[in-house]
Amino acid sequence: MQSRFEKIKLLAYRELIDVGCSTLQITEHHDFYFEGKKIIITSLQNYALLTNTPIEQLTLNGSYDDGMCIKGLRDILLVLYNRNKIHRRRRFTVLHEIGHIKCNHKQHGKQEEIEACFFASEFLAPTPLLLEIKQRGYEINTAFLTEHFGISIQAAEKKLKQLESTYTKNSKLEQELLVKFKDCLDEKFPLTIHSDNTISYSPYVPSRFSLQNNTGKYIEATAPKP
Ligand SMILES: [Zn+2]
Repeated sequence: MQSRFEKIKLLAYRELIDVGCSTLQITEHHDFYFEGKKIIITSLQNYALLTNTPIEQLTLNGSYDDGMCIKGLRDILLVLYNRNKIHRRRRFTVLHEIGHIKCNHKQHGKQEEIEACFFASEFLAPTPLLLEIKQRGYEINTAFLTEHFGISIQAAEKKLKQLESTYTKNSKLEQELLVKFKDCLDEKFPLTIHSDNTISYSPYVPSRFSLQNNTGKYIEATAPKP
């Protein structure tokens, strides 16, 4: 039987495949849907202005300062984010709230919070892509995750712990994800094959090692030959 987190992971990958972006540059301005309905994403500030609601009231005096999801009349789904937060945080908040919607959460308990964070983390930095990049010889660390996947240091640290313990099944959806982002991965994290049959990695992201073609062993990287 699939575990709850396994299901959430697949929900995140499904969403990532459906969202129509293959460059990992997902923003809060992409279109998200739930049960055929578009999720309206806007800032807390805009919503406060439109509904003439004081922002303090909306955020319960700052308790929900980052953002929230609201189910309105006629099942309208709203995700609100605080436009005064830095982009990285805004993005994570939006995906966290979408996670609540996709997981069909009815309350904001501790478990629901963990699940929504897990959804956002798998959406923004999907484990199968990270494992693929790792296989190409790149070192996945906090700096790498914040730079290339735009997640916070805190989220990156959690992700690293998770990467140590996650066993990724080779599901059809995970394969689909790798196909969708292949061009993006090849461009950002390419392999370079040299005339002496060694493979190294683009100087775009310096790697200490290169992979020796025939043996599969890692050797100290040498300067790429023309
Ligand atoms: Zn939440």
